Amino acid sequence: MVSSEYEHRIAARFATFDQDGNGWIDREDFSAAVKALLGEFGTAARSERGQNLYAGAEAFWQGMAGIADRDGDQRITREEFVTGAVKRLRDNPERFAEIARPFLHAALDLAGGGGRAAVSDVARGLTALGVPGDTARPVATALDADGDGEVGEADVVPAFARYFTVPE
Ligand code: CA
Ligand code: CA
Repeated sequence: MVSSEYEHRIAARFATFDQDGNGWIDREDFSAAVKALLGEFGTAARSERGQNLYAGAEAFWQGMAGIADRDGDQRITREEFVTGAVKRLRDNPERFAEIARPFLHAALDLAGGGGRAAVSDVARGLTALGVPGDTARPVATALDADGDGEVGEADVVPAFARYFTVPE
């Protein structure tokens, strides 16, 4: 049961992962995210950057499944996400960031290079992942904490952990 503001907020994050909107998170959602990003940035799946993104997405999926797929059916339901993720994230929020890091690094390489990307390109990537256009730009701008016009891994990884773990 969703019984607190915190859990409600975590549940809302479910939609971020459920890219195809079928009600559960599985490997297909991560593949869909990779394809959307490769398409947006015109990168071939077989390229080094494409392969790195696929590898990061697979590691992200495996980490997510390890945290939340309690019955081991390779699907994370909303209930599994809320109950599994909330408990684990409270215990160890840094772990979630580490699970996401290879994917986030590869996505920044895709949008820019060297683990960094311009704010405008980060906004393009967020839009490709389904973040509404009027939200993607301010989110990308906020990620550029030092205001140099670029977003780096050091900005994204902790921001990602905050997004999933800190109550409003
Ligand atoms: Ca799904
Ligand atoms: Ca499951």
